[in-house]
Amino acid sequence: MSAIPQTPSPRVPELSIVVPMYNEEAVLPLFVDRLRPVLDGLGAAYEVLAVDDGSGDSTPAILQRYGRQWTQLRVVRLRANAGHQAAISAGLARARGSYVVTLDADLQDPPEVIAPMLDAARDQQVDVVYGVREDRSLDSAFKRLSARAFYWLIRKLSGMHAHTDAGDFRLMSRATVDAVNVLPEHGRVLRFVVPALGFPSTRVGYRREERAAGRSKYPLSKMVRLSLDSVTGFSIAPLRVATWLGVLGGVAALAVLVFALVARAFGQVAPGWTSTVVAVAAMGAVQLLCLGILGEYVGRTYSALQARPAYFVAYDSLEGSLPGSGSGLASAASEVTRDGHARAARHPEGA
Ligand code: UDP
Ligand code: MG
Repeated sequence: MSAIPQTPSPRVPELSIVVPMYNEEAVLPLFVDRLRPVLDGLGAAYEVLAVDDGSGDSTPAILQRYGRQWTQLRVVRLRANAGHQAAISAGLARARGSYVVTLDADLQDPPEVIAPMLDAARDQQVDVVYGVREDRSLDSAFKRLSARAFYWLIRKLSGMHAHTDAGDFRLMSRATVDAVNVLPEHGRVLRFVVPALGFPSTRVGYRREERAAGRSKYPLSKMVRLSLDSVTGFSIAPLRVATWLGVLGGVAALAVLVFALVARAFGQVAPGWTSTVVAVAAMGAVQLLCLGILGEYVGRTYSALQARPAYFVAYDSLEGSLPGSGSGLASAASEVTRDGHARAARHPEGA
């Protein structure tokens, strides 16, 4: 076990650990007791960013106490509860390491897995190492089923591949963190945003443990919110529902027209019935179609607002090796473009 310099050096740490915490007083001492030896034994300079997500219990006081004797502990306190994903984002924006690991405070993500993650990133030269749950037997049947349905829906809607058993326990290179940090969107769901970048990645399996203490901060309402954010963050498919209903309505209106004319030809209708039925069906279809068209424009505006960069440059031979590339691809510069014109000029086919 190589001892790490305990001075609060301003030196950039190689590894940053980002931990969102919301009312975690019960589990915090257990968490620190388990995390610290693991990190001290890594032989790499590190920092732990505890993001206190507006806790109302003694979490901030406990963190302050630990901070006095654990110099690598950095506490970031949010003014109000912003939610799990936002808390991680706050940590990512401030983390300085060449590699950043995000994990929960409740010891469901075993800290011991950080070492194999770091090894995998260095050895295989990848940007992302996903922690993948090998066994979900500890989750309730409801949680397992809802998770499966949720990932299936996202895959169908966005055509994007996120591993069903990968949560928010992952390692990211500096380039990945920089890429995530420039995404301007609100309510981003990192477990989908990160795979959507498509950076080179690998996986490390682990056994998800039970929450070591305290209660889950994810009630059903927050789970629903996460699902909605995931779907609307990656797809404008729901907006297209009106278009499709309009098309279906149009077909139905035509059928009604034929039916009404036939019924009339046989003289089996009350006067005025034909025109009323056809008018109602046709108006319904027209309205839905118009809604659908509006939806298409709203969708385009929404995509433009998200302003996802069209690409990230990893290397440019003209510039030679990238600044600070001592740590390999960890510093692969994230030149991003958010300027539509420049992008169109470089990728005319994509214009
Ligand atoms: N968390 C947070 N803000 C919230 C809710 C949760 O920072 O509004 C943190 C929480 O402290 C924990 C992690 O997010 O470190 C995951 O939450 P939890 O374990 O309660 O979720 P579950 O594992 O039950 O889905
Ligand atoms: Mg948990």
